[in-house]
Amino acid sequence: MAVLEKLVIANRGEIALRILRACQSMGIKTVAVHSTVDRNLKHVALADEAVCIGPAAGADSYLNIPAIIAATEVTDAVAVHPGYGFLAENADFAERVERSGFIFVGPRPETIRLMGDKVSAIKAMREAGVPCVPGSDGALDDDQDKNLATAYRIGYPVIIKAAAGGGGRGMRVVHTEAHLANALQLTQQEANAAFGDGAVYMEKYLQNPRHIEIQVMADQHGNAIHLGERDCSTQRRHQKVIEEAPAPGITAEQREEIGAVCVAACKRIGYRGAGTFEFLYDEGRFYFIEMNTRIQVEHPVTEYVTGVDLLNEQIRVAAGEELSYKQSDIVIRGHAVECRINAEDPETFLPCPGTVDGFHAPGGPGIRVDSHLYDSYKVPPNYDSLIGKLIAHGRDRKIAISRMRIALDEMVLNGITTNIPLHKWLLLDPGFLKGAFNIHYLEKRLVERAAD
Ligand code: ADP
Repeated sequence: MAVLEKLVIANRGEIALRILRACQSMGIKTVAVHSTVDRNLKHVALADEAVCIGPAAGADSYLNIPAIIAATEVTDAVAVHPGYGFLAENADFAERVERSGFIFVGPRPETIRLMGDKVSAIKAMREAGVPCVPGSDGALDDDQDKNLATAYRIGYPVIIKAAAGGGGRGMRVVHTEAHLANALQLTQQEANAAFGDGAVYMEKYLQNPRHIEIQVMADQHGNAIHLGERDCSTQRRHQKVIEEAPAPGITAEQREEIGAVCVAACKRIGYRGAGTFEFLYDEGRFYFIEMNTRIQVEHPVTEYVTGVDLLNEQIRVAAGEELSYKQSDIVIRGHAVECRINAEDPETFLPCPGTVDGFHAPGGPGIRVDSHLYDSYKVPPNYDSLIGKLIAHGRDRKIAISRMRIALDEMVLNGITTNIPLHKWLLLDPGFLKGAFNIHYLEKRLVERAAD
C-alpha cells in the first residue's frame, strides 16, 4: 500500500514533474495545481487530477495559500509537496497546511521559521556546534560605533547580509570603514523593499571560498543521515550555474566530519525531511552560511552518486515512515555534474521566453534530463527562466564531464535562446576542468572573455 493516498504538487515546471514521477513510482495519486498559463505543462497532463488555482502571476496562483488549501480539500488529497521556490520555505504556509489537517512535505513550521531567518539560523547552528563565518552577534542595530567595532573585530572586508535574504539578493561587501554606515543603510533599505524585513547582519567576507553544501535527510523517529556534499561554486551573481558531487578535492574524512556535524545539528533541532546545510569552504575549513529547508534544484547529482531517490525518501518520511537508509548504507560512487538550462541569453543573461520549435533530449549511459519541455511548448515569461537540468554521471569527474559535453552537443532545443552555449564554453575551460575554482571563478572568466 502507498505511504500516502493522494498528494498535491504545489509547484510547476521541472520540479513538479520530478515530484509527479516520485509519486507514480510509489503508487501515490497526484493533483497538479496550476496557473492559467500553465494548463499545458507536462505534469498537468500526466497528473491524476488538475486544478487551476489562479492567473499567471505567481502571487495569484503558486503563492495563493487559500487557493492551494482549497484545492487540497476539494480533491481529498492528504499531503502537499511545495517543491522549491514559491511557498517551499514559507512557515505560514506549512502551518496552514498542517492546521487544515494535511501533511506538509517538509520540516515542521517552527523549523522553517528558525532557519528562514539567517540570524536565528546562525545562532542555532553556533549553539549546535556547527562552524559559522566570523560575524556579528545577531542583527545589527543603529549604533554605528558598535557596528564599526564589530567590523574592526571581524576584519575588513565584511559583508552586510539581509536576515531574510534569498536568491543571492540583499548582500553588500564593505572594504573600508568609510563605507560601512552607508552600505548598512542601503542594504537595510533593499532588504525592507525586497523581503519586507530590514534586519541585517555582518559576516567576514571570505575572498575566494568555494560553496560546498551537505545534503541531509531526517525522519520523525529521531533518525538522521547525511548524503555527502555538492560543490556549487560555479555561480553568477550568487546564483548556481553548474553543480557537482562529490566536491573536487574533499576527502572522505572531511566529508564524514562535516556530515556528522550536520547530522548532530539535525537531531538537536528535531529536523524532519530533506535539507541542505550550505557552507563556504576556505583554506580547508567549512563555514556555515545558511540552511535550505527543502529539496534543492541540484538534488539529482546527489541521487546519482548515492543511488538514493531523495524525493521518494522525502515523501516517505513526511508520511511518518522511518528512513530506509542508515548512514553506513550511504556510499559515494563516481562523480555527477549538473548544468542548469535556462531560457536566457548566454551573453547578456536576460530571460528569453518563447515557443520551443524542435526538441530532442540527449541520452546514453549516465545521462539524465529533468525537464518539462516538449516540442511546441511555450515558455511563459511569468516565472523563473530554469527550463530543465542536464545531469551526467561517470566513474570519475573526467568521464562525467565528457558525457555532459556529448549530451550538450546532442541536445536539440530550437525556437528559444538558452544558456547551453555558456555550458559548452565552461566545460572546455582549463580552470574548470582542473576543479580549481571558487565562487568568483565564472564571473572572472566572463570578464576575461568579454575583454578578448
Ligand atoms: P542566499 O540565501 O541569497 O542564497 P547565501 O547566504 O546562501 O544567500 O549566499 C549566497 C552566496 O553569496 C554564497 O554562495 C557566496 O557566493 C556569497 N556569500 C555569502 N556570504 C558570504 C561571505 N561571508 N563571504 C563571501 N561570500 C559570501
